[in-house]
Amino acid sequence: MDERADTIAIIVAAGRGERAGLAMPKQFAPLGDRPLFAHSHAALSRHPAIGRVMVVVAPGQDALVDGDAARDVRAIGGAERIDSVRAALEAIAAEGGARRVLIHDAARPFVPAAVVDRLLAALDEKAGDEKAGAVPVLPVVDTLTRENGSAVDRTGLWRIQTPQAFRFDAILDAHRRWPAGEPATDDAGMARRMGYEVTMVEGDAALEKVTGPGDLERAAARLAIETRSAGGFDVHRLEDGEELWLGGVLIPHHQGLSGHSDADVALHAITDAVLGCIAAGDIGTHFPPSDPQWKGARSDRFLRHARSLVEQRGGRVRFVDLTILCEAPKIGPHRAAMQARIAEILALTPDRVSVKATTTERLGFTGRGEGIAAQAMATVELPA
Ligand code: MG
Repeated sequence: MDERADTIAIIVAAGRGERAGLAMPKQFAPLGDRPLFAHSHAALSRHPAIGRVMVVVAPGQDALVDGDAARDVRAIGGAERIDSVRAALEAIAAEGGARRVLIHDAARPFVPAAVVDRLLAALDEKAGDEKAGAVPVLPVVDTLTRENGSAVDRTGLWRIQTPQAFRFDAILDAHRRWPAGEPATDDAGMARRMGYEVTMVEGDAALEKVTGPGDLERAAARLAIETRSAGGFDVHRLEDGEELWLGGVLIPHHQGLSGHSDADVALHAITDAVLGCIAAGDIGTHFPPSDPQWKGARSDRFLRHARSLVEQRGGRVRFVDLTILCEAPKIGPHRAAMQARIAEILALTPDRVSVKATTTERLGFTGRGEGIAAQAMATVELPA
């Protein structure tokens, strides 16, 4: 048996249904440069918290798959969705199990990293009090009516999306105890029926399901992207008796940066660069220094907020380049830690975060050691 994995994502792509107007099961229909399901495969694969992705297809359908996703394809799907999920869970169990599992429908090609963040955070936060799962939901905004014209009260009604996140042992148990032949709508519903508590987190409009050709056209429009880059710059004063936070990392030094928040000049410059890409003002617009709630705040919050604003527009941060200007401390020994930390905050791989440093040849305020400056460039992709 292999070692127990941490987090595995299962993409359920075993459907055989062929809707009017599509030449093949919709999860294999081309969307941009790859099949529909390969988009969520790419998004889940690049999420830093997800160690492995498993794509469940029906026997014979693996011939339809090539490219990056092919290595993750398992032709073990069953007749019904519930059978395919069960087969995937049993396969994981046979390989040593996992701590957490995400279950996703292949028909939802766009998976924002922020939704995965929210699901996993909710799951870990709730693990202590027996919450077994977390599901993304959106409110029902349209008026609902019965055929006879009487309105349906929307209070307490939610639209459930995927991916859904579970503690692996809990969802495996729910599937194993599910009465044979009983139809199931979704995994969260099954977990609840089997006595597990499932918590709700905010979903995302980007997760909408593709069900017919019209939806495919809308999804294709979403793929048209525009790339933007913008810069950011910041300075903070070095003072005695302060901690030195730089690039999200606490650095041992005889002085630290002073400011209203933790004064992490590097994260502030990157935050401004990301905000600049969406013309959304600067860090002071969103977190005014006059507001006492930001006193002593960790600057990763600011950068995370900027990232979420990009994602709310359907975009994502693709790359950042940071230059720190100071005489001391030396940045080299902390470069890898900063790269990893910034990458984590932005849901990027570290090779998409560049950290550079320079002195100013003892010239100016940085040269005299009175402060540290940072400049950053960010690149984002947005729906065109
Ligand atoms: Mg600042």
